Amino acid sequence: MPLVSTRQLLDEAAKGGYGVGAFNVNNMEQIQAIMEAAKETNSPVIIQASRGARAYAQDLYLYHLMLAAAELYPQIPLSMHLDHGNSYETCVSAIELGFTSVMMDGSLKPDGKTPATFEENVEVTRKVVDYAHPRGIAVEGEIGVLGGVEDGHGAGGTGLEHLTDPDQAVEFAERTGVDSLAVAIGTSHGAYKFTKKPDGSVLKMDLVVAIHKRLPKTHLVMHGSSSVPQDLQDIVNQYGGKLKQTWGVPVEEIQLGIKNGVRKVNVDTDSRLAITGAIRKVFAETPEKFDPRDYLKPARAAMQKVVALRMTQFGQAGHAGDYKAISIADMAKGYKNGTLSTKPEVSK
Ligand SMILES: [Zn+2]
Repeated sequence: MPLVSTRQLLDEAAKGGYGVGAFNVNNMEQIQAIMEAAKETNSPVIIQASRGARAYAQDLYLYHLMLAAAELYPQIPLSMHLDHGNSYETCVSAIELGFTSVMMDGSLKPDGKTPATFEENVEVTRKVVDYAHPRGIAVEGEIGVLGGVEDGHGAGGTGLEHLTDPDQAVEFAERTGVDSLAVAIGTSHGAYKFTKKPDGSVLKMDLVVAIHKRLPKTHLVMHGSSSVPQDLQDIVNQYGGKLKQTWGVPVEEIQLGIKNGVRKVNVDTDSRLAITGAIRKVFAETPEKFDPRDYLKPARAAMQKVVALRMTQFGQAGHAGDYKAISIADMAKGYKNGTLSTKPEVSK
């Protein structure tokens, strides 16, 4: 299947009542791990790259690796998403390259650190939507500000400082016309999300429920949603790592989100931990090895394992064959003729 729009994946997920994992990549092995996991579980999947990933890998390498993935796995609906675009220009350059959806994170100023005003966020997000939709490209916006920092992007803090206000979420969705909405509910980027198993005082799943109630048809996105499982932390530390004890977002909380309109679930840290643990193990147990394949193969397999598990837990497993690709040109027509309207349904 050619690269399809994330909007199509999310519309299908809403119909099927499941969530779709959006997994971050920087290199070939990560893309391979995700595609093998998608094949193994028969899952549609979103692969996403941050600005940091684009800088690390170079746009053309990333894009052609994604084309290879689409060609090698014709049975898998696959989209290529820009994670946390910081400006209009960043989003435009991603669309020109061939990304099939972009996130305009206007919750922060273009420095990627300073919280922006609501009006600034609406303005830049609307501008990206106006550029993207006529080209058939979907847009994710963010309202509220996530915690933590990853790839140099983020406001820092705990994630509780700028939680999403449901009324503002409604106004934001109405004024921007985004296809999906990332909400700030206490999650953070990076490995250090929570200092103990999160409860309702730090992970505001009630907010997801409240936003979904107001915007029942809007696709919601959970960022910073690695579960940071203990066994992956333990492998890293068992073989010489020095991770401080930390807690992620429990899978059952993500599943509660999926029951309440969450259609895209962003996962990066879990993949990073799996890869690092596997490489450390090879280095510690067989220090005589020096062929990169000797540690990259187990690293890739470890990432595949955690990604396949998440695909099953999010419910996307088994859904790859449910639908045919809609071309990006036809997506553009849909935005134009209103069949892909992004005017949100709002309820009290
Ligand atoms: Zn994020």
